[in-house]
Amino acid sequence: MKTAIVVGSGAGGATVAQALQGSFDVLVLEAGREFRPLALSLAIPERLKKLGLLFDERHIRFLFPATRVQMTRPGMVLVRGIGTGGTTTLATGNALRLDQGLRAIGIDLDEEFAELDREVPVSSAHRARWNETTQRLFAVFEEMGLEPRPLPKMRRRESCGNCGRCVLGCPSGAKWDSREFLRTAADRGARLITGCRVSEVAIEKGRAIGAVARVGSRREFFAADVIVLAAGGLGSPVILQNSGIPCEPGLFVDPVLCVAAPWKNARQNSDIPMPFVSGRGPYILSPYFDYLSYFFNRDWPSGAGNILSLMIKLADARSGTVTGGTVEKDLTPRDTEALRSAVDVCVDILSRLKIKKSEMFFGTLNAGHPGGMLPLTGADARTLHPGRLPANLFLADATLLPEALGKPPILTIMALAKKVAKVIQESYGDS
Ligand SMILES: Cc1cc2nc3c(=O)[nH]c(=O)nc-3n(C[C@H](O)[C@H](O)[C@H](O)COP(=O)(O)OP(=O)(O)OC[C@H]3O[C@@H](n4cnc5c(N)ncnc54)[C@H](O)[C@@H]3O)c2cc1C
Ligand code: SF4
Repeated sequence: MKTAIVVGSGAGGATVAQALQGSFDVLVLEAGREFRPLALSLAIPERLKKLGLLFDERHIRFLFPATRVQMTRPGMVLVRGIGTGGTTTLATGNALRLDQGLRAIGIDLDEEFAELDREVPVSSAHRARWNETTQRLFAVFEEMGLEPRPLPKMRRRESCGNCGRCVLGCPSGAKWDSREFLRTAADRGARLITGCRVSEVAIEKGRAIGAVARVGSRREFFAADVIVLAAGGLGSPVILQNSGIPCEPGLFVDPVLCVAAPWKNARQNSDIPMPFVSGRGPYILSPYFDYLSYFFNRDWPSGAGNILSLMIKLADARSGTVTGGTVEKDLTPRDTEALRSAVDVCVDILSRLKIKKSEMFFGTLNAGHPGGMLPLTGADARTLHPGRLPANLFLADATLLPEALGKPPILTIMALAKKVAKVIQESYGDS
């Protein structure tokens, strides 16, 4: 049987590994370790915050090793998951179909979304369990004509305790993440090597012959017939560039900014995160307790249960690069203007709860949906294979997305990854 290497086990990687195992002998190379939810009592970071010992978001990895933070050159905080399941383990579980941009360039993912519908448990029926603060916010959004709607969640409703800790890893396993696809792949015989950071793809005579990786202190070479890069929007471009394949300076990240205020017994930190959403052109608004800002931003007062916070998530311009370990990414004037008008709407929402503008504070500008550095074009609609890649080297992650979605991308990345796997099977699978 032919061998396929899949680099990364997040949304795209685990999906491809599951789809290919059986027709290929799949080897998943994953930079991180086995994911574990944050087991630490939150009283510990609370105490560190009070002592002023939490000041650099990058230190989160000492508390929660699967979360990695990187700063862009102008200082935006980028968050991603490094471990089995990739960033899906840190997700709030939102499941949206967002393939308008892909459809516009001729890519039809109907069949793949239908398959995901059968494989991933998704439900929007959580409204009855919202706490009083969330219910009240929903009413204000409605009153203002913001047309809020409950967000579909990838989770098993029966075992969800509404603990609000989705971004810290689900303690009960109620939340679906891509480790479930990884497990299916492993049950069918796929092999997984963790702690294995791929640096480049070896290319000979225009053909990918294997992946070069660091495993502990060793440099290793893994040969394969087909290689699929799914190291995420920040990881795959680095591997491509190290392999002599240039990317485009088109990085998007979906920046997030929270507008918050003190609110007695808000208990937003212990309610389902992002329970509903309002779409407003280039941005969405959603209630969201921002743990990163709470722990690391000194403007956020102690007492997590007494903070009310609204998230703005923006579809930013494709205007950034990742080279080596450096991310250059700034907001364009259009992005800044969109954020400013979103802040005005949030101020209006909080004002309707009789919160004074002087009491409001901002979260830390951060982002967790990187992609777009080797986007698909209409010319690739049939092959899903950007022309500059060797024929047997594929991408299956957010790097392929032609534009920022400004909304949760997991489901769309997985649908795209499924289709990439079908192309690989047709072109290289044993018939
Ligand atoms: C806090 C947070 C909450 C989110 N919530 C949601 C949500 O509710 N819904 C939603 O749709 N999206 C959400 N997202 C975004 C979503 O999780 C990501 O956009 C998505 O997982 C990206 O998929 P991917 O396959 O491109 O990369 P990832 O899922 O990030 O997977 C990349 C994988 O590659 C591995 N890797 C990286 N470099 C290497 C290397 N050199 N060698 C080997 N392996 C490597 C990583 O460890 C990882 O396993 C959230 C993001 C964050 C940060
Ligand atoms: S709210 Fe808690 S139990 Fe429910 S999915 Fe999120 S982390 Fe899991």
